[in-house]
Amino acid sequence: MALSIPFFDYPRVFTDDRDKLIRIFTDIGERGAFILQKDVSEFEHSLTVSTKSRHCVGVANATDGLELCWMEVGIQPGDEVIISSHTMLATASAIATLGGVPVPVDIGPDGLMNPDAVEDAITPRTIGLSPTQLNGRTCEMDRILSIADKHGLAIVEDSAQALGSMFDGRYAGTFGRSGVISFFPAKILGSLGDGGAILTQDSGAYARLQELHNHGLDASGTVQSWGRNSRLDNLQAAVLSFKLELLPDAISRRRQIASMYQEQLGHLEQLSLPPDPGSDPRHFDTYQNYELVAEKRDSLRAHLAQRGVGTLVQWGGKAVHQFPSLGFSVSLPAVEAYFEGCLMLPMNTFISDDDVGFICETVRGFYGE
Ligand SMILES: *Cc1c(COP(=O)(O)O)cnc(C)c1O
Repeated sequence: MALSIPFFDYPRVFTDDRDKLIRIFTDIGERGAFILQKDVSEFEHSLTVSTKSRHCVGVANATDGLELCWMEVGIQPGDEVIISSHTMLATASAIATLGGVPVPVDIGPDGLMNPDAVEDAITPRTIGLSPTQLNGRTCEMDRILSIADKHGLAIVEDSAQALGSMFDGRYAGTFGRSGVISFFPAKILGSLGDGGAILTQDSGAYARLQELHNHGLDASGTVQSWGRNSRLDNLQAAVLSFKLELLPDAISRRRQIASMYQEQLGHLEQLSLPPDPGSDPRHFDTYQNYELVAEKRDSLRAHLAQRGVGTLVQWGGKAVHQFPSLGFSVSLPAVEAYFEGCLMLPMNTFISDDDVGFICETVRGFYGE
């Protein structure tokens, strides 16, 4: 049966703005402006403005972005980087593919990297931390920054899910040496394919990242070192510049939907919901995802699917350290318990108030209300 409220309606990334997007395709095509044209630099500039970041480098996707950031840090084989196990594999693979050792740690009560667990995981081989700003919420970066300072560690933020999210008035992706944003179509700012960006506040890192993402070439075209080809596609950059204008409204709408979920589901003791927007003045959350923890999660999910509501158990229902083929042997009780019950409800600008009402009614019905 086709779902009447899909978890994410991919065609609408295009169809909601069809005419405008076709005009963009035509313009780019007629200019032949496919690789590293003004559309990329204009978008990079707009993104620095909207995140109050000093620098930005567009890249082919956020996973590449993370790898480039660790290359820029100068990671060597055997170097350890501490990550939260509650993240996408990419946070870890970016370290592992360069010969580094991702060290997953447990989550705190907020579902994000637990600073106490980070302290315990530091060894003489630790060179960095890679906190994930998950579901549009930024970690308590004051504690993470002070741990990094104390031990001389580099921070590369996986802010793939956190464009526009803030902690203490500062944007995700701008706390560390560098931070990465993803424009995967289902992300809060989605392109029509892959795309990503690196933010950095350090002009040396910026110059090096510029080289690394484009064959090791410096601004004058001289080869400085080995590099990669991981450029943000010019066509995607033009699409993203247009969609970036819509972002503030998209974030408001997501926060509004989160409040509606809170109002209509907050009283159910079988659920543990994400924090309500505005419930903590230190955080500005953008709800890239609405991930709750539910009793009888699998039956709830089937109940919703039977009634046409799409949901998602993220990343195959596993924390990073739980994939047997990757060879981890740690046990991390908080994140393991989290994955027994976590479920994402639809959260995007395509769903209506009525959709949210129907989803909530169906969830309440499942728990016998
Ligand atoms: C989406 C995502 C990525 C990877 O982004 P891509 O642009 O698809 O490479 C990395 N980390 C997290 C937390 C993500 O959600």
